[in-house]
Amino acid sequence: MTSPRSAEKLCGPSPRVSEPLPLETIACPLCGETRFQPLFSQGDLALGVPGRFHLARCPGCGLLYQNPRVRADRLDACYPPGYPPHARDPDLSGLPPRLSPAVPWVLAHRLGYRHLPPVSLRWRDRLRAALRGRRLVNAFPPFLGGGRLLDIGCATGRFLSQMGALGWETSGIEADPEAAATARRVTPRIFVGDPTEASFPDGRFDVVTAFHVLEHLPDPLGALRNMLRWAAPGGRVIVEVPNVGGWGGRLFGRYWSGLELPRHLVQFTPQTLRAMVERAGGEIVRAFHKSKPRYLIRSLRFRLTDGSRPLAGEWILKLALELVLPLAEATGRGEAVRFFIRRAGERSAWYDAP
Ligand SMILES: [Zn+2]
Repeated sequence: MTSPRSAEKLCGPSPRVSEPLPLETIACPLCGETRFQPLFSQGDLALGVPGRFHLARCPGCGLLYQNPRVRADRLDACYPPGYPPHARDPDLSGLPPRLSPAVPWVLAHRLGYRHLPPVSLRWRDRLRAALRGRRLVNAFPPFLGGGRLLDIGCATGRFLSQMGALGWETSGIEADPEAAATARRVTPRIFVGDPTEASFPDGRFDVVTAFHVLEHLPDPLGALRNMLRWAAPGGRVIVEVPNVGGWGGRLFGRYWSGLELPRHLVQFTPQTLRAMVERAGGEIVRAFHKSKPRYLIRSLRFRLTDGSRPLAGEWILKLALELVLPLAEATGRGEAVRFFIRRAGERSAWYDAP
């Protein structure tokens, strides 16, 4: 699956700019309210883009978003050359070579991938399928209709390559021209630009995905409207965003790694994401919270140091977090949330309740 667009390396590429970028004041991207409550300012802790960036709350709908924020025509300067997600190898071989047979078994039996070659499971893999079933069901899209998939913010196309290997006809949208050129090695159907600028026929895709992308977009509501329009009847839109209302956001505040200022323009909670989906004409049928120790450890590094060095005893912390993070997921306080969305008023289907 595709990885978060948030930066993975702390001492990675150098910024594209040496002077602070021009800022502009905007209206709330969810409800259009022009008043806002400033909360705090912070620098770019991950990649060092110069300047201070400002988090605000909308008094109308409660959305947390950057205001003022980097001027629209300079947003691309927030992504340094070599920005890790844009430079990642797309891995044209598709699926990982040592994939457990439990994965195709779960896909065929629980998510409609009936075209995959049949697999027979040894007892060990049966156990794995039972234990990891729910996680796998949430990690892969259900195979719907004619198997036409659009991935928004596809970067170099790693997820598209994996989905192509599972039988999907793949298309992508990517704003970064260099990453898009790499993604074209996976599929020629790549639109370069913002999802609000792309034009596809209504109902063109069976599944539309956007993983860790909406929070980067200047108009996430417009993007969601298009995604719902492009989904075929009975199709699904699947989005994943960082959750500022999770344990990490609450514990670390301005040092939370998920803030990713200035690249994350909106900081969603499950409530504000739901409100935006509903305003776009959709409804959430299922949500799945996710947490990984490395997100919280990165936040702790930002809190205690400049973030570039590992902390002493980090492995003990990682072990402890592995044990307690399932509690965050179970109580709706995960670091990120994946949402399964349909157009409002459409009927539910078997794959909505795994
Ligand atoms: Zn608002």
